[in-house]
Amino acid sequence: MYRIIVRGIVQGVGFRPFVYRTAKKNNLRGYVRNAANSVEILIDGKESDVRNFLKNLKNEHPPLAEIFSVNAKYAAGGGEYDDFYVLKSESMGETDSVIPPDVAICEKCREEIFDKDDRRYLYPFTVCTDCGPRFTIIEALPYDRERTTMKEFAMCKKCATEYSGALDRRFRAEPTCCEKCGPRYGIFKGNKKLSSENPIKAAAEALDSGAIVAIKGVGGTHLATKTTEDEAVLEIRKILNRPQKPFAIMARDVEAVEKIACLSKREKKLLTSFRRPIVLLKKKNNLSEHIAPGLHNVGIMLPYAGIHHLLFYYSREPAFVMTSANVPGEPMVIENEEILTLNPEYSLVHDRRIKNRCDDSVIKFVDGKAAFLRRSRGFVPLPIKLKIENEKNILALGAELDVTACLLKGSSAFISQYVGNTTKLKTLEYLEAAIYNLIELTKVEKIDAVAVDLHPGFNTVQLGAELSKKFDAKLIKCQHHHAHIASLMAESGVEKIVGISCDGIGYGTDGKVWGGEILVSSFSAFERTGSLMPQIMPGGDLAANKPARMVAGILSKKYSVQELRKILTKNCLKGFKNEKEIEIVLKQIERRCNTPETTSAGRVLDAIAALLNVCYGRTYEGEPAMKLEAFALKGKPGIEIPAVVKKFDGRYILDTAEIIDAVLEMKEEFKYEDVAASAQKAMAKGLAEIAVKAIKKNAAAGFSGGVAYNDAIVRCIRTRIEKEGLKFLTQTKAPCGDGGISLGQAAVVSHLISSTSQ
Ligand code: ZN
Ligand code: ZN
Ligand code: FE
Repeated sequence: MYRIIVRGIVQGVGFRPFVYRTAKKNNLRGYVRNAANSVEILIDGKESDVRNFLKNLKNEHPPLAEIFSVNAKYAAGGGEYDDFYVLKSESMGETDSVIPPDVAICEKCREEIFDKDDRRYLYPFTVCTDCGPRFTIIEALPYDRERTTMKEFAMCKKCATEYSGALDRRFRAEPTCCEKCGPRYGIFKGNKKLSSENPIKAAAEALDSGAIVAIKGVGGTHLATKTTEDEAVLEIRKILNRPQKPFAIMARDVEAVEKIACLSKREKKLLTSFRRPIVLLKKKNNLSEHIAPGLHNVGIMLPYAGIHHLLFYYSREPAFVMTSANVPGEPMVIENEEILTLNPEYSLVHDRRIKNRCDDSVIKFVDGKAAFLRRSRGFVPLPIKLKIENEKNILALGAELDVTACLLKGSSAFISQYVGNTTKLKTLEYLEAAIYNLIELTKVEKIDAVAVDLHPGFNTVQLGAELSKKFDAKLIKCQHHHAHIASLMAESGVEKIVGISCDGIGYGTDGKVWGGEILVSSFSAFERTGSLMPQIMPGGDLAANKPARMVAGILSKKYSVQELRKILTKNCLKGFKNEKEIEIVLKQIERRCNTPETTSAGRVLDAIAALLNVCYGRTYEGEPAMKLEAFALKGKPGIEIPAVVKKFDGRYILDTAEIIDAVLEMKEEFKYEDVAASAQKAMAKGLAEIAVKAIKKNAAAGFSGGVAYNDAIVRCIRTRIEKEGLKFLTQTKAPCGDGGISLGQAAVVSHLISSTSQ
């Protein structure tokens, strides 16, 4: 007799029915059951059958399952079982918890929805053991229906029979239900409930007529409208108060995607995978310009739940705008009352609670590799497996924007779903809830250390301090750009790296604003061997919202105030409210009043964008730099723009004033698009040059931070680094933007506390 413990993603993925079938096939007796996050199997039978069973277990498991380890031990006894059984969950026991993420509806379930003779015909919540929600409905472990938000829906007789039939494809499918016993949709016009017989059909008709409809889905809520009419898209912009931020699209099928965007093989594979992320694709011309204004790509996803397939079934449209429904800066709404207060024309809502909201994941191919802009639905709470074997449990809270939390336990890094901008109280509360949820799902009993950013003013730092007191854990601060590089090191399993860390903003160890850094890093320490040239930001934070101010700040290194006045008036007057604002900026520069310094790469890209009339204002994070990337794609980087590297303040700096001055000169002579591409290239070249200087033999170089989403810049840096015969790394498992900061913080702190306790 053998006792087998299987660890990995083995709950809620049809693992037990698979074990049952495999045991029966091999003439074995015994049982299988869920423990609090492993699966326990007891088998009794002939030695050769046992061997076959173990082979089948490893090689033929269900598609959603992922096995981390199989531990089989001989056990005394035998003969107690006359057959093979699926037992109820054991709620005590081992705790190496991994629960699966939400995945898209499977092909079989989708077919049932459109089969007139099936009892689930046109029923939106149809799921089976291989598909549907997991993470978003789980309240506690082990994963059983009574600990999910499905507990409020008692199964009808037929559903109960399927659920308990060991050979049924809905055997122990916790969210299974049908029209008779499961959740239902209803439709509201304003806040009046309509007595529609078919709310989904009514919603589709409203969409076809150009209305805006809030749609509560599986793990969150979308605002939807047609993609084909500018007016509807602009109306949605008004509701969400998002003048420019790109919207995602849900397309009916691959054919519909190909009409509006270019689709490579790799992109198609990701788009159609069971994780169904939003993939950023190159736009074709026939799309409303208001969906992703000024950008070359657009985020597209395919239907991933029954409700989506049904909406398209009743609608004539090839695609809908589908954007997360939220008050700007706050988390996506998930309660029916909140959805109604957003006041869309129609709201299609249902009566199942969403326990853990989970935004759509967003992925972009950068330099040929899939990079997460947002790692959420379809991936969370899957851990990222690290090479670190760490005995302490570490909680990290991220920075301020695009926040995620990370819980590091053993060699698993559990990164939370996307939380967002924590300057708002509601989002901070959401972060706290996401943290407690992570703790619950991983069954971590003691937090040993809490990692936060170095910035004294972040709400996450405050929250981290409170939590560290509560958990009686150490509070440790991590530098932002080091955390970006540590995140890259952790996911790629390297111990030392020359890291290029470029983004918009991060608090430096000298109290200044950093954002264009070359950091020779290990996990526990880093040396700042280079950076971009410090530039002043006239008006402080205002200069991040008004890129033309950065033009003034940077060029003040090269020109007198009189010359600067002429340059600004001639080249980017539109970037200021009026000439009066230029005078204020000039005074700030002259008196060095409210002009903090920054080495931010984002601010330099902003200045290039303003100088080339690409973007004069920032209405969302990264806007000018993203629009510059799109603009530069239309040009060629053939103009020679100098990347001057000098020694300054004990480190190498890239003279960004030289680059901006060259842009000013070249724009008189060359196509703006070509100037944009060449200026980006100059910055990339300069950064790579500094990195190369810092590389000792055999070291690797890597690139992280939000600027590492820029395809042209990444390619240019990689080419230069590889020319030296060195390895070049970028992030593919966690976001290189601030969504990956929590992972880096956790990795840093894990090394810090293990090296001090030795
Ligand atoms: Zn299914
Ligand atoms: Zn039912
Ligand atoms: Fe950052």
